[in-house]
Amino acid sequence: TFQYESAQAVFDLLERQFSLTDDFLIELTKAFLEEFKVGLSSYNHAMAMIPTFVTGVPDGTETGTFLALDLGGTNLRVCEVVLKGDKTFNLVQQKYKVTEKLKAGEATALFDYLADSVDAFLTTHATTDYTSPQDSTPGDAASSHIPLGMTFSFPVEQTALDSGKILTWTKGFSAKNAVGNDVVKLLQDAFDRKHMRVKCVALVNDTVGALLSRAYTAGGCIAGAIFGTGTNGAYIEQIANIPKLAGSAAAAKGGQMVINTEWGAFNNSRSHLPTTPYDSALDRLSINPKFQAFEKFISGMYLGEIVRHTLVSLVDAVPKPLLFSGKSTTALNTHYGIDTSLMSATEQAWIGDDPSPNAFVLPPLSSEFSESELSPKVIPKLNRIRAAISQHLGFKEEDVSFRDAAIVRWISSLVARRAALLSGVAVATVLIQTEHAVLKGESTPIKGLNDRLGVGVDGSLIEHYPNFQNILRESLRTLVGEDVEQRVEIGLAKDGSGVGAALCASMAVKHT
Ligand code: ADP
Repeated sequence: TFQYESAQAVFDLLERQFSLTDDFLIELTKAFLEEFKVGLSSYNHAMAMIPTFVTGVPDGTETGTFLALDLGGTNLRVCEVVLKGDKTFNLVQQKYKVTEKLKAGEATALFDYLADSVDAFLTTHATTDYTSPQDSTPGDAASSHIPLGMTFSFPVEQTALDSGKILTWTKGFSAKNAVGNDVVKLLQDAFDRKHMRVKCVALVNDTVGALLSRAYTAGGCIAGAIFGTGTNGAYIEQIANIPKLAGSAAAAKGGQMVINTEWGAFNNSRSHLPTTPYDSALDRLSINPKFQAFEKFISGMYLGEIVRHTLVSLVDAVPKPLLFSGKSTTALNTHYGIDTSLMSATEQAWIGDDPSPNAFVLPPLSSEFSESELSPKVIPKLNRIRAAISQHLGFKEEDVSFRDAAIVRWISSLVARRAALLSGVAVATVLIQTEHAVLKGESTPIKGLNDRLGVGVDGSLIEHYPNFQNILRESLRTLVGEDVEQRVEIGLAKDGSGVGAALCASMAVKHT
């Protein structure tokens, strides 16, 4: 709550709290690189830098029919993917809801539900008749089981393409008796309990899926990144740069391996991040205080909640409320009551059809707007924002003033801008680590000066948040310069989790 002397000072403070300087971004990238190195050198670090045992990247010629199961975000998805070998694929999918009870209950119940969902999918959606001998399924050479790739988007310490121990839950999951166990075994046991002829042959993280599927459809890709419910990234590393694999068969073979960074955990234990009181409140009240520190600044699950804490402080400001005339609603008072999609909606409403909406000047936020001082072009924008706010937060539209609308949009844009700039830090770190770029001010030579630098991305935030990618690119220009930024090709890995899991399953089947 603000006890303020001047309303303008409150808004100035908010702006300062949420802004990041170029120097700050550069320092943060250095810290990020440091955590990359530490994570690659040994095990049990927050930034886990997990070797995925994926040593090849698709080139678009892969073929076969595979099942894919994707657990890790808001929905559980089951899909059937047909890789056609010409950079294209067919995909049929069905989403299943994972209830809060399943997320927090016994692991066996959760994995039984996953198996049941695959079973339901096979009866209702699959296009291949799996009951007859499977001529079209490459997996049938090894067994009569249908090969399935599992996308499991939580930290897992992988020991092979088809085995990995769950390290911790994130993103609101907390199922019991899962951490420490092999996730492939948990799933396979559930299939076996139900006598299903399905074999989980590959385990892949959604970031790795984004990388692989983008490589398949675009012909080349160096990294994958997720900006959805959570955030994380994967990239191709030289095995020689992964000291913690020393002595393993993989190290003896050499070459490259995809690393799942788990960058959402950056800064768990230190204090580089630009924490505001609203971030602290969010963290303290979360189910994993001090964990996934970076993710809490960036991802869809949390941005709305940061905005909510900020708005509430303005509603409660003393001596006079600075928002909604001091009124609130159930949504505004409820944890996670503001979905990040409201932020997108206010930004979209503000931009409308204008290429440069920031050319519109609003009166200072510190006092109520009178309609006469607003430009006629701005009024419909603010009206659309008012409508979005009343719809999302349950206000009557007349209880949302023009100024309230402007404040909500402004705070959303501060929080989203900070998220996109920080996302750029993560991507820049990958570019620097892989020697495709150097941090501004440094002069080490870089390789492949004309290479296209493919980055496959997925997630609602990068897909739907207006200008998220532009701001991320602004951050890249600050950190690695415009020449490199221009060569970075950020492409949506549509259905990346499903296709990535299928690609991984195809590699697994080929190797057995
Ligand atoms: P997941 O990461 O679970 O696979 P998504 O990529 O769809 O799924 O991300 C869901 C997250 O994105 C939720 O946290 C939600 O709040 C947020 N979200 C949904 N729609 C939008 C939108 N239009 N703009 C920004 N964020 C959104």
